[in-house]
Amino acid sequence: MVVIGAGVYGAAVTASLTRRGARVTVVDAGAPAGGTSGATFSWTNSSGKRPRSYHDLNVAGMAAHRRLAAEVPGCDWYHEGGNLEWAADDAGRDALRKKVPTLLEHGYEARWLTRAEVLDLEPDIDPAQLPPDEIAYFPREGWIEPARLIGHLLSRAIRSGAAELVHDDPVTALELTAGTVRAVQLASGRSLPADAVVNCAGPQAATVAKLAGLALPMRNTSGVLVYTSPVAVSVSRVIHAPQMRLRPDGGGRLLLHPHDDSAAQSVVDKALDAARALYPGLRAAGVESVRVGERPIPGDGLPVLGRVAELPNFHFAVSHSGATLCLHAGDLVAAEVLGEDQTDALAPFRFERL
Ligand SMILES: Cc1cc2nc3c(=O)[nH]c(=O)nc-3n(C[C@H](O)[C@H](O)[C@H](O)COP(=O)(O)OP(=O)(O)OC[C@H]3O[C@@H](n4cnc5c(N)ncnc54)[C@H](O)[C@@H]3O)c2cc1C
Repeated sequence: MVVIGAGVYGAAVTASLTRRGARVTVVDAGAPAGGTSGATFSWTNSSGKRPRSYHDLNVAGMAAHRRLAAEVPGCDWYHEGGNLEWAADDAGRDALRKKVPTLLEHGYEARWLTRAEVLDLEPDIDPAQLPPDEIAYFPREGWIEPARLIGHLLSRAIRSGAAELVHDDPVTALELTAGTVRAVQLASGRSLPADAVVNCAGPQAATVAKLAGLALPMRNTSGVLVYTSPVAVSVSRVIHAPQMRLRPDGGGRLLLHPHDDSAAQSVVDKALDAARALYPGLRAAGVESVRVGERPIPGDGLPVLGRVAELPNFHFAVSHSGATLCLHAGDLVAAEVLGEDQTDALAPFRFERL
């Protein structure tokens, strides 16, 4: 099997394929986690995701992270600290008042907290920044460190002897005969014979699909991530404040995710100012780096997963929200590659609908 792309999807598919007994070569144009998975907010959630099948897929994705984290001693990439969300205007409050009951109807954990209850969870927030009540809390949400997860999944697969990683060698062509992919050609000149190929190329998935003669419509967008210097401030969970989103990151850093998708200095400055207003202890924090990530968004916004009808040994594992979905969706795709019937689970996410 050849897996194209070593982001969260490629790593998850590789891990699942090898666990199920396949031999895999995973190929990346650069380094593992060097694509979108290295520049993402990576909040694990199913917050306002429609239709219901997509919501359920995300909930299953959250559960898969929880299971893996429980199974791996010393797991250091999964942080189920919950998410706090509140609004500052009527439109925002109305949206939240609709979202919380809908999620509860779906059996998703959510509850309303008061300002005092939030301060028990996040004592370093300036109380004046919080409304007195109607602060939504989603305790099962959290965030992952994608690079650590990818490292774990790939190293386990490679150590088992069932996977090989080829990096810094882009896929440039696919050899097709009689409606079947036979081999994957790399820029280095190497040719990898393949029984099956899985396209996990994230924002470049359309380019790889084109090599197979398939037109995959994508409407990728970019997003900005601002990494602060390490700070001695207590931030323990994902925060959706009206002005911006933030969460803890490794080594005491915070990751700020402005609503504005421009990386202009004014946007970065505004994000830091908003974070400082929310957590006054951030006064001394600086910006360590700014990254722009490209969201891999299929044409209708929903994932593209599984086998292609007209090219049955070519498979997709491409979506936005891949940080949440990768383990579960990657496992469904891998199972289908190896002949398991995933008709029901994958029906809403087939390439052919596009
Ligand atoms: C700003 C931002 C915020 C986000 N926030 C969230 C969030 O809060 N929660 C969430 O769940 N998701 C979020 N996402 C989405 C999530 O990060 C992505 O869905 C996920 O990282 C995609 O992973 P991937 O493995 O598909 O792609 P990538 O990580 O991009 O991996 C694809 C790999 O394919 C390789 N590749 C491409 N072309 C070729 C080729 N021709 N040959 C060989 N290799 C190739 C690339 O080098 C790359 O390493 C966010 C994304 C962004 C940008």
